[in-house]
Amino acid sequence: MKNASYDIAIIGGGASGLMLAANLDLMGAPGIVLEGSRVLGSKLLMSGGGRCNITHGGSIKDFINAYGEAGPVMRKCLYRHSNSGLMKWFEDRGLELTDEGGRVFPASGRARDVLDTLLDEAASNLWQIESGAKVTGLRKADGLWEITLDGGYTISARNVVVAAGGITYPETGSDGSMLGILKDLGIEITDPRPALAPVYVDDYPYADLAGISLKDVSVTAFSSDAAHTCKGKAARMTGDILFMHNGFSGPAVLNISRYAEPGERIRFSYNRELKDLPKRMQKVLQDRARGTSGDIKTSVLAMLLDHDDFVVRSVDSRGMVTAGGVLLDEVDMSTMRVKRFDGLYVIGEALDADGITGGYNLQMCWSTACTCAEDLKKGIQ
Ligand SMILES: Cc1cc2nc3c(=O)[nH]c(=O)nc-3n(C[C@H](O)[C@H](O)[C@H](O)COP(=O)(O)OP(=O)(O)OC[C@H]3O[C@@H](n4cnc5c(N)ncnc54)[C@H](O)[C@@H]3O)c2cc1C
Repeated sequence: MKNASYDIAIIGGGASGLMLAANLDLMGAPGIVLEGSRVLGSKLLMSGGGRCNITHGGSIKDFINAYGEAGPVMRKCLYRHSNSGLMKWFEDRGLELTDEGGRVFPASGRARDVLDTLLDEAASNLWQIESGAKVTGLRKADGLWEITLDGGYTISARNVVVAAGGITYPETGSDGSMLGILKDLGIEITDPRPALAPVYVDDYPYADLAGISLKDVSVTAFSSDAAHTCKGKAARMTGDILFMHNGFSGPAVLNISRYAEPGERIRFSYNRELKDLPKRMQKVLQDRARGTSGDIKTSVLAMLLDHDDFVVRSVDSRGMVTAGGVLLDEVDMSTMRVKRFDGLYVIGEALDADGITGGYNLQMCWSTACTCAEDLKKGIQ
């Protein structure tokens, strides 16, 4: 591969890079997937607890709200390459799917089958796939992209697609290195941080409740300018929470974690009376109201049920996704081209867009990869 020249180089052999290769027939043009780690699709293999929740059922219209402020920006891309398109693509290739309350999985329950389908299609589209090929530099020289690989040698490509993911689970190869390289090119990057992660708070009182979950709890994260006043709400989600021995988890907490800022407040409103809580939790709340008596104790308990406030100490670094990444304003979302550079594209989790749990993040990889494939197809030489 040393000094070789390609029409298209995809940096990253994870979900979005492989979805692109699987959907782009090179028609004889030279194309390469450069995967930094030894294993392709490591994060895809661990997704959905190894079962891979590829997308969510229902109307694609409902997806817009799943990505926060990025949702409306991605609308066209999501509509053009929707959840039903993704499901049909896999089913047409023999991968049976099953819908479990909206979450769509391969019927086999094996993420491996999703990865194998992508790899088979990429191979039939004649992509050269190289693992252990970590990119350490990228620059434009004489109208081509010069890509430096670990070990110091270079290759060149007319088009480069960055599909290098975010910063969480760095052992999968997604270590944020490409975000640094893009930043050095002058591309604006929103600071990456973990999302879909457990939240740890100061003075956590629920260690004894580890393993207990509660339904329909409203969780509110407050923004930095409202640290001690609780006036400026950042976001609110209602759903299940899980008490861990050292912090909060469960879908409502994971989904709000992108808004949780260390040093700021997070509020739990349990939406039920004391008597309807698990006995062990009733005891913890009673203990916390101890020292007050009579009417005051009753009102402290009522307050805790509705305003159980904590200061966020940290968000677990092992988030399922990364919030932050390449600013969406830098990218033409109808092609995935970086506006200021010819022949440079960004797709998947490397973008400053992340979704809630339920298959929305892999759907985003699919929608951005297929949008990019459409544009690249026009220019294959
Ligand atoms: C535990 C877990 C469970 C999850 N479950 C689900 C789920 O069920 N449903 C869902 O929708 N989402 C889920 N997600 C999120 C989903 O897996 C990711 O959003 C998705 O894999 C992102 O795909 P990507 O291709 O953009 O990035 P990645 O999958 O991270 O792939 C990026 C690839 O780029 C490579 N790379 C990085 N830097 C370089 C470099 N410099 N040179 C060369 N290669 C490089 C990496 O090695 C990596 O293989 C889960 C995530 C985790 C961690």
